[in-house]
Amino acid sequence: RAIVRDLDKIKQYIGPFIKPPVGPIDVDPTVFEKRFLRKIRELGEGHFGKVELCIYDPRGDRTGETVAVKSLKPENREEQSNNLSREIDILKALYHKNIVKYKGICQEEGGQAIKLIMEYLPQGSLKEYLPRNKRSTDLSVLLSYCVQICEGMDYLGSCKFIHRDLAARNVLVENETTVKIGDFGLTKSIKDNEGYYTVKDENESPVFWYAPECLTSCKFYLASDVWSFGVTMYEIITYCDSTKSPMTRFMEMMGKTQGQMTLIHLVRVLQDGRRLPCPDDCPEDVYELMKKCWEHTPEKRITFKRLIEELSVLQK
Ligand code: ADP
Ligand code: MG
Repeated sequence: RAIVRDLDKIKQYIGPFIKPPVGPIDVDPTVFEKRFLRKIRELGEGHFGKVELCIYDPRGDRTGETVAVKSLKPENREEQSNNLSREIDILKALYHKNIVKYKGICQEEGGQAIKLIMEYLPQGSLKEYLPRNKRSTDLSVLLSYCVQICEGMDYLGSCKFIHRDLAARNVLVENETTVKIGDFGLTKSIKDNEGYYTVKDENESPVFWYAPECLTSCKFYLASDVWSFGVTMYEIITYCDSTKSPMTRFMEMMGKTQGQMTLIHLVRVLQDGRRLPCPDDCPEDVYELMKKCWEHTPEKRITFKRLIEELSVLQK
């Protein structure tokens, strides 16, 4: 018995020195080491983040893979780091063909700054892609992008998340036929008993994509994403032409305003029942669908499921 006890003691001492075999088994593929991540170029930036194209080449023989790396702009490091961590946790939990794929994280040496590693979509966002590819993109292709966005959104809603920042700039293009929702930076989970999320931090609202209830009472429902989808659909049908952008159009409707007044005027315009106009060359039944997204009362708005059905009919 004494011998057994001694053996246990020995194990305790030498245990830490016995390393498990190094190999694929103990390598976590979702942890990216900073030293192997090489920046190629900037892909874009939004409110608080920036996204870079990088090559991850741990073998150092140029067989590495390309990835998109999202980090916070230095000026936002402090106050936004929780947001990026939450975005990472949300994206990690989502699996859908129309949602950008999570690949992993990369931690800075100090362990403070964290980066989100996701798949790289070479065509960028719809906002970059559509103006450049008008000729090869006809209405039925535009409508198929709309269906795909609705499918991703319907899945997101089934996971009890509200996106809160659905816009063409946040939809990425994989190839001519496939789009994916990216940027879950403002996504929030909704509690079942409430059915909405209350905004605490108002200074980041993309107001021209927001439903009236978001602007007036800071409440976000699943139906508020449907409103933003309608605005996104408007952008898609106009090929993201910036001279016809939602902001340009709403500004025309409101007349000259500034600062705080903009919000008040926007709310008034919407309460008067005024909406973005029917884009040039847009069939009336397609515009009707947008307007179903812009019903004033959230409960009256069309759902993503119905949108998928109705868009699929129009696409044919
Ligand atoms: P932010 O939260 O700062 O708005 P986004 O996630 O929207 O950041 O990314 C900003 C821009 O970077 C996008 O509009 C797009 O042009 C580009 N981008 C983002 N993710 C990818 C990706 N996975 N592949 C290619 N381009 C991307
Ligand atoms: Mg964005």
